[in-house]
Amino acid sequence: MTDYFGQIRNLKNYINGEWVRGENTVPVINPATSEEIVYVPLSTKETVDEAVKAAKQAQKEWALVPAPQRAEILYKVGYLLKERKETLARLLTMENGKVLEEARGEVQEGIDMAFYMAGEGRRLFGQTTPSELKDKFAMSMRVPIGVVGIITPWNFPIAIATWKSFPAIVAGNAVVWKPATETPIMAYELAKIFEEAGLPKGVFNVVFGSGSEVGDAMVHHPDIRVISFTGSNDTGRMIAGECGKQLKKVSLEMGGKNAVIVMDDADLELATDGIIWSAFGTSGQRCTACSRVIVHEAVKEQLENRLLEKIPELKIGNGLDETVKVGPIINQAGIDKIKSYIEIGINEGAKLLTGGKQLTKSPFDKGFYFEPTLFTNATSDMRIAQEEIFGPVVSLIPVKNFEEAITVNNSVTFGLSSSIFTQDVNRVFKAQRDLDTGIVYVNAGTTGAEIHLPFGGTKGTGNGYRDSGIQALDVFTEWRSVYVDFSGKLQRAQIDIDE
Ligand code: NAP
Repeated sequence: MTDYFGQIRNLKNYINGEWVRGENTVPVINPATSEEIVYVPLSTKETVDEAVKAAKQAQKEWALVPAPQRAEILYKVGYLLKERKETLARLLTMENGKVLEEARGEVQEGIDMAFYMAGEGRRLFGQTTPSELKDKFAMSMRVPIGVVGIITPWNFPIAIATWKSFPAIVAGNAVVWKPATETPIMAYELAKIFEEAGLPKGVFNVVFGSGSEVGDAMVHHPDIRVISFTGSNDTGRMIAGECGKQLKKVSLEMGGKNAVIVMDDADLELATDGIIWSAFGTSGQRCTACSRVIVHEAVKEQLENRLLEKIPELKIGNGLDETVKVGPIINQAGIDKIKSYIEIGINEGAKLLTGGKQLTKSPFDKGFYFEPTLFTNATSDMRIAQEEIFGPVVSLIPVKNFEEAITVNNSVTFGLSSSIFTQDVNRVFKAQRDLDTGIVYVNAGTTGAEIHLPFGGTKGTGNGYRDSGIQALDVFTEWRSVYVDFSGKLQRAQIDIDE
């Protein structure tokens, strides 16, 4: 077994500043090699209770620490992440499979988020506003909610946790985080960093375990007042239903079926690069991955040829090799899902231009690798053009004009990201108005969000909240309106006003 940089074999939960309860472990597999990297505990509901109790206690004190001082800890976290960027990136590649370059990018997202949210320690703006009455003062301010439950997927094991925990913590909440079972190492590393940065015990807690036990216990825990979830649509819907019954605040970031639109006036070389990067980067396992290309029929053939020329240049393999561009799929279940969509696409009548197979021969036989795959002549009603595949599979859908391209883009139940390649400024402005996704790119692929803008989607992708950006604070704070009447007499709003 790879000895995880000679440091650790059995992970433990991080509760109240202590490393506790490492029983009932299962191995974590490197998807590039099938090697066991580390063991992660499958914790129980009782461990969640313990973590929430610690968080609840710690939050009372933490909320009283001035926000600029809370932010000082985040600055330290940012510098520690920066110092360890390379080590963290390598560990990330080992547990998740994404190529090193992208793993470095993901850690950088965490660094950016730390410094950005640390700045909020001196803002956390509310409003002052005039009162309608004499000698009366009115203002609104953000207040923390209490204990926040964070549930995250395996495809961005550190970035998503930082999008959620950093705003929660700077706003004065305490956190209980359940990372995905496939990728616990980033959670362990982030907890170590918080510990070294001097975060008071109990403000940040990690409980490892399955969604059905640990995640479910968090969703149902009466002292967790908000759940921030990123993951699949099915799980998100179920969590939303449970939270609804308890009147618990819930923020959801779920799947996507993102499209690149290529118009007849597009720079085709640029469009090809954008499609390759957003369809096959992270082996298509991004919520913002491009899985549809809506192409004007006049340039369809040219685009197909350009893609067919570039796809074989993508080196597939272990992401620790700097020359590799497409890493493994997370596990065999992920591969099986992709395979089933290849069959569906062929049966639906789309034309398979390249790819479509799992790579099983040496040197790929130990890991979970899938060929970058291109379908063409898909139609927007096909399942391969409607459902999230979460793999390196992209389908070309030919259209006759701009209006049809927008209609096809908006025809899916998801609404995360979309992109358009065109040189026409009128189309650019119409597209950013009419595309119905939370993120719109012009002359770039569908991936690559920056942390100081809101991240999230419409329709089946979310429930109206956003991760990152200033808007992330809306998930982790309540608004309080404060009125101070210094008139010394009873003044009644809406009644004691001069007509
Ligand atoms: P998933 O199966 O829904 O799992 C996400 C998390 O939820 C995991 O930690 C999982 O735990 C937990 N979970 C599962 N069942 C649960 C339950 N009954 N109660 C509470 N928690 C539960 O999703 P995934 O396959 O890991 O992630 C891929 C999905 O995430 C894709 O659909 C992708 O588009 C989406 N995603 C969205 C965004 C975005 O911001 N919009 C970003 C990244 C990914 P265990 O797996 O450990 O059991």
